[in-house]
Amino acid sequence: MSENDGYSLFTARFPYDRSSDLDERQRAVLDRHDIFPLEGSLRLKALRRPVVPEPPRSDENGGPCSVCRMADEDWLWCDERWGVQAWSAPRAFPSVLLFPRSHQDLPDLPPEVAGELGHALRQTARAIEMLEGIARVHVEKRGDAGEHMHWYLLGRAEGLMQCRGSFLPLWDMLLAPMPDEIWQATAKQIRTNMDSVGGIATPRLSRAVSANEAAPC
Ligand SMILES: [Zn+2]
Repeated sequence: MSENDGYSLFTARFPYDRSSDLDERQRAVLDRHDIFPLEGSLRLKALRRPVVPEPPRSDENGGPCSVCRMADEDWLWCDERWGVQAWSAPRAFPSVLLFPRSHQDLPDLPPEVAGELGHALRQTARAIEMLEGIARVHVEKRGDAGEHMHWYLLGRAEGLMQCRGSFLPLWDMLLAPMPDEIWQATAKQIRTNMDSVGGIATPRLSRAVSANEAAPC
């Protein structure tokens, strides 16, 4: 294949534009650990050919960004640098999106935001795991729809052993959504929990040791 036909080392080997029955390896992937939510005579969808260069995301290259336009009162919870938002429509399990309030994607984060990211993820995960009936929080960063960095935190209900692992987002889409009043109450509880864990303000690190204070070696 030529260098200009859109294929790469990672895409040139696949068959395109034709669906197929699952082979033994693919079936084993779905059957592993009993965690895949679908069964029956599934087929692999036709894979569409690569589109290179990809079209820009809606908020890329200076495009309008709905996250940057959000005021304090638009967030489920926020401080000066971070915001937590729930989906507007109920899902099966509690979940939120975590954003920095400044517009960057992960590879371009300024050091001060990157340095706070781990703490922000921990605090948000804690706020979800504090909900009664939640065993664990899954964390994912995708960013295919928007450049403004966002992390997806999804709580897995305690006891649902089939929902462990990588297919939890699929279970979340397929199982019945929460009734709206429970969804709203859950979001409100997450906001309360964010405050009770102390929000996202980075704890003060120990004072840096200056060169003249360092122990001689
Ligand atoms: Zn933005």
